[in-house]
This record gives sequence, structure tokens and C-alpha cells, in this order.
Amino acid sequence: MSEELTTKKNKIDDSKYSMETRVIYGKHVTDKWDYSHHVTAPISSSTTFRLDSVERGAQGFQQFAQTEKFGDEAPIFIYDRLGEPNKDMLEENLAYIEKGEMAVTFASGMGAISAVLGVLTKSGDEIITHSTLYGCTISLFNNWYPRYNIPVHPIDLTDPNNFFKVVNDKTRVVYLESPANPNLDILDLTEIKKIVDDINKTRDESDHIKIIVDNTFATPFCQRPIELGADFVVHSLTKGIGGFGTDMGGVVVGPKKFRDMILLYRKDFGAVLNTKSAWAILTYGLPTLPLRQKQQIKSAMRIAEFLEAHPKIYFVNYPGLPSYKYHELAKKQMIDFNGNFAPGSMIYFTIKGDTAAERKAIGAKFMDYVADHAYTMTLAVSLGHTRTLVEHPASMTHSVVPPDQLEQRGIDAGGVRIAVGLENTDDILMDLDEALKQL
Ligand SMILES: *Cc1c(COP(=O)(O)O)cnc(C)c1O
Repeated sequence: MSEELTTKKNKIDDSKYSMETRVIYGKHVTDKWDYSHHVTAPISSSTTFRLDSVERGAQGFQQFAQTEKFGDEAPIFIYDRLGEPNKDMLEENLAYIEKGEMAVTFASGMGAISAVLGVLTKSGDEIITHSTLYGCTISLFNNWYPRYNIPVHPIDLTDPNNFFKVVNDKTRVVYLESPANPNLDILDLTEIKKIVDDINKTRDESDHIKIIVDNTFATPFCQRPIELGADFVVHSLTKGIGGFGTDMGGVVVGPKKFRDMILLYRKDFGAVLNTKSAWAILTYGLPTLPLRQKQQIKSAMRIAEFLEAHPKIYFVNYPGLPSYKYHELAKKQMIDFNGNFAPGSMIYFTIKGDTAAERKAIGAKFMDYVADHAYTMTLAVSLGHTRTLVEHPASMTHSVVPPDQLEQRGIDAGGVRIAVGLENTDDILMDLDEALKQL
């Protein structure tokens, strides 16, 4: 590290700047890598690193995933799967923005989710989840966890007291999404934390129940679950944080003492974030997150209001709507960096129909029209994109849920999910209006 930068770094007190500004500068002055005259970090493009001596090589291996003992300020880089500068820098920034002690990135959101669960549970342990979750997370629990002998109990945690119906001595993890994918259920994280704390008081630390929150829908701009009591946050970086739909990624943010285990898991299971993707998320995604989120929230609010007032709409779930069941709770939990209510960019709605089958048919007609005619809406899964994306959870992202279990999982057969993009809001409303006129 050059003297010049070290001096500048030491002189600047970033706490007097807004988070919008801080995500642009982030931790770009880092001990992870000496690139003192670059304004933007260069892309590290080496899978392996030169070791000056056998002793240095041995030291590197000895110190890997031993950050408790050796610190992690200036690691000895050995091989990309163990760690390299771009990922390490992105991790510093993600921990910073999510208010966590440390972050470890992964090749995808599912890589991050399976890693944190893999570290926190073993055969014989049990997991409690909210009934509504991203489809592949449900798939992970249904298709793979029975093999590990780890029972998973999905339950309606919009009433936190339901927790007591399934908790037992073997419970080790509560796994949640708030807002949940796709129906935007909001869970009272503070209340769930209180219940878990009371139980943990009676247990040895090694048996403590940990709370994991998938914060993908909110992004850290709208909500920081660790501040609300979560132990760990996971993200699909593919979505709002990546922001442009160009790179996949995932992250686990949490307490420092778990960093080594999670790094070891990543090394051995191998879901390592691509260096170029780490660079793109660090360079484009994170610095523009507040700007993008602010525009998307503004649009989402107007779109939700438009849908709510539309005679053909059966219901609209959007945390920003005063009529929404969880609006008051959302107002407490979804707060941006400046203290404003930040209800996010996701909307879930259905079009009127007397039965689930009718709602499904009319929803499909709407989405087919959008696929064919709408300039500002694209029929595609994913979210947090520059473009507004529309999809049908029951047959796409959540197709793992059998039709007879949709309702219990909080999914309407005809439900439509909108992930608002960066287009002019009037243009999106024009396309929506036209698509609804066809029904
Ligand atoms: C997309 C998504 C994931 C999975 O992320 P990938 O990057 O696609 O693996 C997990 N949770 C939620 C809420 C998601 O929307």
C-alpha cells in the first residue's frame, strides 16, 4: 500500500457522508490489493498467484480460513478458489452496506444459501422456514435435505407464534425471506428475534438457533436485516445488487467468527464467484444501487396504485400500498439509508376470475399479450434489472410447488410478479393499461 493512499485513507472520516456517496467510494482503498493509482479497481485475471518461496506458499496455506488467528487484512493469495482481490474487495463492500461483520461471495444465490445452511446444520438438526420462499430454495429443502436427514418445517410465520408449533431441541436454523418471493409476505423480524433469543437463553451457544434472512427482494438499500436481529443475510447478487442482468452471484453476510467455516465450505464445495463478475458487481452494481432503487420504488408505487384502482384486478400486494396487509410492519422494517420508507421494486397481483383456474387462464392471457406487444415489459424470470420483467410464479420460478400446495405456500395459481425496471413510469403504465384492456 502506497504511503499516499494510506495517508488519505487515514485522514478521511467517511461517516459524515451519506450512504449514497459511500457506496460509490466504498472500501476501494483496500489492503487487499495495492493498485494505488487506479481510480476504478482493475480486473484480476489470474487463477493462480506467484509464491516467492516455499515458506511463503506454506504460510499461505496455513493461514487460509484462519482469519480468526491471522487476520484477513492482507491475505497471501494462492489460487482463485481460495480467494483473490476482486472477490475480497466486493466482500468488504457487501459487509459494509449490509451492516454485517464479514461477507463471503458465491457463484450464485443458491450457492450462498446452500453454503450458509451447510455450515450451520448437520444430520439430525432441524430447520424452520416461512411457508413462502423462492422456488429453488424450496427445491433445495424438498429434494436434498431428506438425504442429509435434516427435517425442514415450512410454517406460516406471518404469525410469529406459529414458531412454537414446530420448534424443538434439534432446531438450529430459522430461514426466512421478507418480503417473500413471490407474494411479498412481510415477517416481523424483531418479534421472531425475540422468540429465538428467549429459546437461545436456555441453550449452550453451540446449539443456538440462527436466523437467516434472504434479503434479495429488498436489497440492502431498502432493508438491513442484521440491524433487525438476523444473524445472517443472504443475497442473490444476480438480482438487484448486480442490477443489470449480466452476472450471476451470491453472498452470505454475517458474524466474523463464521467467516473461516464459510470460506472452507466454499473452497471444498467450489461455488466460487467468477472474478469478472465480482468486478462488474463492485464497479457497476453496488455504486448505482441507491439510484436504481429510488427510481424503481417511485415507479413501483405508481404501478401498484394504478393496479389497485383498476377494475379488472383482484388483489395487489405491494408493501408501499396503505391497503396492504403488512404495510405498517413494512414501514418499520423497510427503511432506506436516509431513514425513508423504501418498499422495494417488486409487485405481486392477480387479475379477477371466479376460480383459481380462471385467474390462471386470464393471467396467462395478460402475460402472453405482454410477451408479444409490450415494449417496456419483458416476460422473463429474475428481477432487479434495468428492464421491467413480468413472470408467472406458479408455472415458472415456483413450478417446484405442486398445484395442490400452491395456496399453502402463499402462491395464487394466477398470480403475476412484476419486477420494476428503470423505464419511464408513464411508459410502463401505458403498456400495462393496454395489456389489461385486452382481457
Ligand atoms: C433468484 C433468487 C435466489 C437464487 O439466486 P441465484 O443467483 O439465481 O442462484 C434466491 N433467493 C431469491 C429470493 C431469489 O429471487
